[in-house]
Amino acid sequence: MNDDSNQHEHDWDDPTREWALATQSIRAGHARTHEQEHGEPIFPTSSFVYGSAAEAARKFGGEEPGNIYSRFTNPTVRNFEKRLAVMEGGERCVATSSGMAAILSTALALLSAGDEIVASRSLFGSTVSLFDKYLGKFGITTRYVELSNLEAWEAAITPRTRLLFAETPSNPLSEVVDIAALAEIAHRHEAWLVIDNCFLTPALQRPLDLGADLVIHSATKYLDGQGRAIGGAVVGRDKELEELFGVVRTCGPCMSPFNAWIFLKGLETLSLRMKAHCENALAMAQWLEAHPSVTRVHYSGLEHHPQHALASRQQKAYGAVLGFEVDGGREAAWSVIDATRIMSITGNLGDVKTTITHPGTTTHGRLSEEQKAAAGIAEGLIRIAVGLEDLDDLKGDLARGLDALR
Ligand SMILES: *Cc1c(COP(=O)(O)O)cnc(C)c1O
Repeated sequence: MNDDSNQHEHDWDDPTREWALATQSIRAGHARTHEQEHGEPIFPTSSFVYGSAAEAARKFGGEEPGNIYSRFTNPTVRNFEKRLAVMEGGERCVATSSGMAAILSTALALLSAGDEIVASRSLFGSTVSLFDKYLGKFGITTRYVELSNLEAWEAAITPRTRLLFAETPSNPLSEVVDIAALAEIAHRHEAWLVIDNCFLTPALQRPLDLGADLVIHSATKYLDGQGRAIGGAVVGRDKELEELFGVVRTCGPCMSPFNAWIFLKGLETLSLRMKAHCENALAMAQWLEAHPSVTRVHYSGLEHHPQHALASRQQKAYGAVLGFEVDGGREAAWSVIDATRIMSITGNLGDVKTTITHPGTTTHGRLSEEQKAAAGIAEGLIRIAVGLEDLDDLKGDLARGLDALR
């Protein structure tokens, strides 16, 4: 049996917490078994066996730590959880079957009927549906505010508000909120601050260090980074994570050991990939800004971006998702997208492959005209999630359509 089987233990003397992120992402969390394997093993087993009836009774009764059933105890999943926990600077991590399962499990763990959420208006579309359509059914209501406007956040809070939820930077306009200031507001009102850190990952931003209570991940995106599997995670303190663990244990939105292994392999190259993604994205943003067919570029790495100073302070770099606008509305935007031969026309992101999409008719297509206007989703807006292909090839891929607009 794996000697590191205690799901609940976290050790602040754990030396891996002192390591730099690149070392943690390659080394942390692997408790080598008696087989002395070098690479992290996959444990594709649904259950575990015991040496005696008495041992089984102790394990089931929680008197003795150890593996029981892979819905809530699996060594490969635990390896991923431990690695991501130290990378985010959290006490504990619970892995889930998807990013959406991470958000749902957080809500189930922390909220009750009658509670309120205050959330940023610029959220992943399914998160909005989860809050409004499904949590709404159980009497949990959500108010939406402009991400960067701290007064609006505070004004939306009522005595029933339990949770503040934001993604920063936002998609596709790259707006940024001051996480430390938002955490201060949340805590003054006895609410939790939950940050979806999908766009930057712990390689570029550590929300827990800035005062956030929980970090959400869609591991599907940059943690894997190569578009291979769906998964999610929540990182934070023991107290809240114990509740979350109970939800996953009982309700079952757990990560499979195969997927956990894929994400472990993804994490090993996270620092390198994020650095390369950001370099490509900044260069693309600067090139787009200088192109005569482009009227606006939304990227927090550009100096004219309204929260550039905040982004530079709060983030190690600016991420790889950017928006840009062309004159001529939907028709012009579609022609630029359709002229690409390298970029993938898809709403997904967080892949070594560059993706391109028209938010107004895809990721934000369900919004009304007023909601689109409020969220800044113009008809001529195009989003790219810059991958790791050669920069000149990517520029050429967009130049084809952009030059034809002139
Ligand atoms: C993709 C995404 C999610 C949902 O994650 P899944 O793994 O697709 O369930 C949540 N938040 C953000 C910001 C995302 O991009």
